Amino acid sequence: MTQMPRENRVDADEDGQILDMIDRWVARELKPIVKEYDHEDRYPHGVVEQMKELGLFGSTIAPQYGGLGLSSATYAKIVMSISSVWMSVTGIINSHLMLALAIQKFGTPEQKSKWLPKLASGEIRGGLALTEPDAGTDLQGIRMTARCEGDHYVINGTKMWITNGAEGSCLALLVKTNPGAQPRYNGMSLFIAPKQEGFSVGRKLPKLGYKAIDTAELVFENYRLPADHLIGGVEGQGFFQVAGGLELGRINVASRGVGIAEGALKLASDYAQVRRTFGKPICEHQAIQLKLGEMATRARAARLLTLDAARAFDRGERCDMEAGMAKYFASEAALENSIEGMRIHGAYGYSKEFDIERLYRDAPLTCIGEGTNEMQRIIISKQFIKRNPAA
Ligand SMILES: Cc1cc2nc3c(=O)[nH]c(=O)nc-3n(C[C@H](O)[C@H](O)[C@H](O)COP(=O)(O)OP(=O)(O)OC[C@H]3O[C@@H](n4cnc5c(N)ncnc54)[C@H](O)[C@@H]3O)c2cc1C
Repeated sequence: MTQMPRENRVDADEDGQILDMIDRWVARELKPIVKEYDHEDRYPHGVVEQMKELGLFGSTIAPQYGGLGLSSATYAKIVMSISSVWMSVTGIINSHLMLALAIQKFGTPEQKSKWLPKLASGEIRGGLALTEPDAGTDLQGIRMTARCEGDHYVINGTKMWITNGAEGSCLALLVKTNPGAQPRYNGMSLFIAPKQEGFSVGRKLPKLGYKAIDTAELVFENYRLPADHLIGGVEGQGFFQVAGGLELGRINVASRGVGIAEGALKLASDYAQVRRTFGKPICEHQAIQLKLGEMATRARAARLLTLDAARAFDRGERCDMEAGMAKYFASEAALENSIEGMRIHGAYGYSKEFDIERLYRDAPLTCIGEGTNEMQRIIISKQFIKRNPAA
């Protein structure tokens, strides 16, 4: 068992049934195959089918559209549980649910009833395509354009680093409908973009970690979309629609960080109790106790910060500072716990036959995705000052 027992995870009382089911699924189905799929960088099609059966593709989609309608706090705990064993699998649902969120929050009634049921069932699977070769943090610098031609838009450009870009079948696609607009964000729009003629996968990108799932470069050449694929039906709203999902996106990444931090702690603590040097288990040496003490504190603090942000989000409160803090702290906790866990394993930590090396390779992504940790600290600081004006 790689996961922490529920009673050590702060929140024993909530969401018991669904979380028990997820924990069992992770232990029975994911844990036995993760090493093989990760090392072979093989897409887990069977896992996708199981996730459809579990309803995970509709986790946060409203029940009226066939989803489970889970709170973001419950969803965060699902992501934590899965990530403690295999973070990649959460990418299959996280960015899919960001696409669904954009439609659920900003779509027209017709768009909601057309797309959300198929997204909830997993019949259509997708993601969020924002980043381009020359624009990530500075999203307003994207170059992809959509030109209106009668009742269609013609889209040209390239997207980069798109999760589910190869295996998924539909994306929320951020483009410029008015490239000359000032301020730049007024010229941006978000489209529902299914795979069809004009949309091709340039290549799957090789990565340090986050293996098995696809991250792709996508090329759009004279890709024609009917005007009813413009989310909300009004041009110029894309930047705000994307920003409207950022808090939740950051809570999701924070949850991955918590999972890795807890997974690394459990692996290290188990190992330290059985590995012996100088006549006793290494967990009885003070140097190892210091590491485990810090790791346990970081993991718990990361969980509490993340659930605090998720609960604020569920109450409908503005939580950009809380989500930024959770994302920043939990991803750094993932990074630190994975390397400390590796040190505790000694040479075996460097072995591909042990799990800790995968957590070490997966952790850095949580510091980059959904806004780098440099940007998080800037957002936290600005928001803190705004909320605390000098007397
Ligand atoms: C595995 C993987 C999966 C991904 N999946 C997706 C996806 O599904 N969809 C998607 O749209 N994108 C995806 N991304 C892209 C990701 O969101 C971007 O990489 C991220 O936003 C950072 O952008 P960038 O890489 O262009 O870095 P840049 O923006 O070029 O930043 C480079 C460095 O400069 C710093 N920096 C930039 N601007 C400032 C500033 N104003 N002040 C201080 N520091 C600054 C950054 O913090 C960073 O350290 C993925 C990336 C990876 C690696």
